[in-house]
Amino acid sequence: MYDVLSPGATLPQAATRFGDKTALVTSTRTLTFRELDAESDRVAAALIARGVRPGDRISLYAQNRWEWIVSYHGVLKAGAVVNPVNVMLTPEELTFVLRDCDSAAVFTSCEQAAGVVALCHRLPARPTVVAFGEAKDVPEGAIAFADLTTAEGPVPMFGPDPASPCTIGYTSGTTGYPKGAVQSHRAVALNCALTATMHARTERDIVVTALPAAHVYGNVAINGTFLAGGTVVLMDRFAPTDALRLVEQHRATMFEGVPAMYATMLADPALESADLSGLTRCTVGGQTMPVSTIERWQDRTGAPLIELWGMTEISGLGTTHAVRAPPVPGSVGVSLPGVEVRIADLSDVTREAPRGEAGELMVRGPLVMLGYHGNPEATAEVIEPDGWLHTGDIASMNDTGHVFVVDRRKDMIITGGYNVYPAEIERVLAGHPAIAMVAAGPVPDAVKGELACAYVVLAEGAEATEEELIAFAGESLAAYKRPRLIRFVDDLPKTSTGKIMRRELIKYGSDR
Ligand code: ATP
Ligand code: MG
Repeated sequence: MYDVLSPGATLPQAATRFGDKTALVTSTRTLTFRELDAESDRVAAALIARGVRPGDRISLYAQNRWEWIVSYHGVLKAGAVVNPVNVMLTPEELTFVLRDCDSAAVFTSCEQAAGVVALCHRLPARPTVVAFGEAKDVPEGAIAFADLTTAEGPVPMFGPDPASPCTIGYTSGTTGYPKGAVQSHRAVALNCALTATMHARTERDIVVTALPAAHVYGNVAINGTFLAGGTVVLMDRFAPTDALRLVEQHRATMFEGVPAMYATMLADPALESADLSGLTRCTVGGQTMPVSTIERWQDRTGAPLIELWGMTEISGLGTTHAVRAPPVPGSVGVSLPGVEVRIADLSDVTREAPRGEAGELMVRGPLVMLGYHGNPEATAEVIEPDGWLHTGDIASMNDTGHVFVVDRRKDMIITGGYNVYPAEIERVLAGHPAIAMVAAGPVPDAVKGELACAYVVLAEGAEATEEELIAFAGESLAAYKRPRLIRFVDDLPKTSTGKIMRRELIKYGSDR
């Protein structure tokens, strides 16, 4: 077992154990464990020299790049708190997050730095802006990251209180305004270590991922791999053809991503000739993945696709499958060791839902966040006094403790008094050969209140009619669950993590 006190201990340990082995490959630079460790020491020394104090918040607002990873570890080594920010946030949302966290500094790209400088001027704390990239591109008012990393100096021994804040991670904002979950050192470190154990990561692993480092799933994939001495090939952003090419080129042993990434890779013309034979297992989570899509990926690669369930409020994963455990299709796995999971009765959370029946998924244990930053009311709404966290997800559990996620409670469609979960519709339609990607959501209806509508992206060259797809859904779904409308669209709106944003679907129009 690893030292699980803090993720800040990851690189010093890995540098000792794995030294000159390649740790990180990005589009601009490849670094060994020793180099990553040394670069992040310099960031830590520079931050300390500039007066950053333990507990100060430092925001990272950029897409995946090696400097992001170095900064994350540098901030932690300086004893400060990392605030990873979703790069898709608008200036207004970013202002909200920086103010909410009272950030002392923001690390960002040169392209975004001018805008960030302007916005920081209006904040009472006037955060320092550090820009990644070439010194010549750094706008006025910002400091070049390259200048920061020339600092040398002693970095103090790292030993924060494991129960103290390590990161303030904002939720994906899939359902509304993001909330800042305060994650402890223990929670983040434990999650990385448990993920590494469950997925049997080793120093032979080469992991390709486009998950944002700023997201909990990306964080555990990256730091969980570092812990084990594996190599992370980190994409700046996801593109299906590039992802397939990188898996082939690096002879990757793992790919990790959200369902939409697998759906688009399966629909990509480059799939046919791609050599994916290095893959030994892949992981998927963040959103419901239809079993039919899982099977198609497994058939194509010969590697198991391991489902996981997680959320920002628990610093990463809550459930997944151990690599060597027998597969349980459709399940997101069992709880991680040390994590308590139960299914609460929807009308009375103190009671258990009967075995096999759906209720609210509740989680308790050291992974649960300390609370939403500066928001005790919102915290009290989701964490019960006895420590149980409401996940807002509807799920069931079987006799072996395997969890089956139905959908988010908030996304339920109420049509003619019946409850319909969009995920059920998506699962069925994803099995239709003409469909590359699908999402379902409600549209208002004068008679039934809401109707279920499916938004469909057709596979390249494929054809299907609305009637045909509704009839296809009707073969597997009860009459009240069938989508009443089908909209054909070119693409689906996604978050920076790549999750489909159902609340945005309505923009395609609800006309009938
Ligand atoms: P917000 O809370 O701001 O609306 P979000 O819930 O998408 O955004 P995250 O913390 O990134 O923010 O995601 C956690 C949620 O993702 C879970 O509560 C669950 O709804 C969904 N999720 C994660 N993994 C799975 C999975 N394997 N199957 C189904 N849903 C999943
Ligand atoms: Mg959420």
